[in-house]
Amino acid sequence: MKILANDGLAANGRDALVTAGHEVLEVTVAQDQLATYIKENNVDVLLVRSATKVRKDLIDACPNLKMIGRGGVGMDNIDVEYAREKGITVFNTPASSSQSVAEMVMAHLWGMVRFLHDSNRQMPLEGETRFKELKKAYGKGIELQGKTLGIIGFGRIGQALAKMALGIGMNVIMHDRNSGNATVTLSFANGATLDMDVENCSMNDLLAKSDFISLHVSGAGETIIGADQLNQMKKGSYIVNTARGGTIDEVALIDALESGHIAGAALDVFVDEPTPAMQVLMNSKISLTPHIGAATVEAQSRIAMEIADTINEAVLA
Ligand code: NAD
Repeated sequence: MKILANDGLAANGRDALVTAGHEVLEVTVAQDQLATYIKENNVDVLLVRSATKVRKDLIDACPNLKMIGRGGVGMDNIDVEYAREKGITVFNTPASSSQSVAEMVMAHLWGMVRFLHDSNRQMPLEGETRFKELKKAYGKGIELQGKTLGIIGFGRIGQALAKMALGIGMNVIMHDRNSGNATVTLSFANGATLDMDVENCSMNDLLAKSDFISLHVSGAGETIIGADQLNQMKKGSYIVNTARGGTIDEVALIDALESGHIAGAALDVFVDEPTPAMQVLMNSKISLTPHIGAATVEAQSRIAMEIADTINEAVLA
C-alpha cells in the first residue's frame, strides 16, 4: 500500500512497513493541498498526529483512501464516524503514550512548585542585586510529598500518573464517571510490586480536597473546569491540563490565577491551538508546553510500531 505519513513517523515503524512491502511517503503536505496530493499519488493510507485535519471535505475528495491512522490518542482532528460510514478504517494508538504524558505531568508539577518555568526566563544578566531579588521571589517553593493529587479521568494516563505520584509519597484521589474505586499496581526496577487503592470520589470532594488537580478525561469539547469548579478548589492549589484544550475555561483560569485563589497552572493543550491566547502565554503563573505530552523518543517509537502492526494485520486479514 502507499502510505502518507503527513505528520511524521518514527524510523522503526517506517522500516517495519517498508520491510512488509509498503511504500511510505514521508512528506508534510499543506492542508489545502492534501486532497490533490492523495489523489495524484494514489495514497491508500493517511497517517496523522494532531496537526493534519481529516474533515468531511477531504474524505469526500479522496474516495480511494482505505485507512486513516492517528499516531496518539485524541481523534478530534478526524471526522471518524463519517470516514467509517465511507468504509474507511480509522484507528489510533491509545496505549503507547500514557507513560510519557504522565511523566510530563510530574515534570510540570515539580516545575510549578519550584517556579522553574519562570526562573528560567528571569535569571539576571545584571549581577548580584537581581540575583538576590530572584532568590527571594523563588525561595518559597513547596514539596509534592504528602500533598493530595486529584486526578479527573482515571483511564490509561490517569492511572500511570497515579502510580508515579503514589511512588513519591503523594496521596491520590480520583474522579471518573465510568469507574468505581480502583487499585493500581506500582512496579519497581527490582521486580517488586505494590498494590495501592485509589478512591473514586465525587467531583465536589475532589475539588475541595486536592492540592493539585490533573485532567485526563477523554473526549473533546467538554469544559470540566470552569469558574465554579475553580472557586471550589482549595486556595493556593494548582491545576494541570494535558487532556484537550477547552477542558479548562482559560478565561476563568486567568481570573483565578490573578486573584491568587489558584497558585499555578500548567497547560500542554489550549483552546486556540496552535496559537494560544496572549493572556495565557504571558502569564508567569502558567507553565507552558506546546502539546508535547506524547512527544518522547520512546512514545513515538511505540506509536510507530503500533501503526505498522495495525496496517500489516489489516493487510493480512
Ligand atoms: P482513556 O480513555 O484511557 O481515559 C479517559 C478516562 O476519562 C476514562 O476512564 C473515562 O471514563 C474518563 N472520563 C471521560 N469523561 C469524563 C468526565 N467528564 N468526568 C470524569 N471522567 C471522565 O484516555 P487516556 O489515554 O488516559 O487519555 C486521556 C486524555 O489525554 C485524552 O483527552 C487524550 O486526548 C489526552 N492525551 C493528550 C496527550 C498530549 O500530548 N497532551 C497525549 C495523549 C493523550
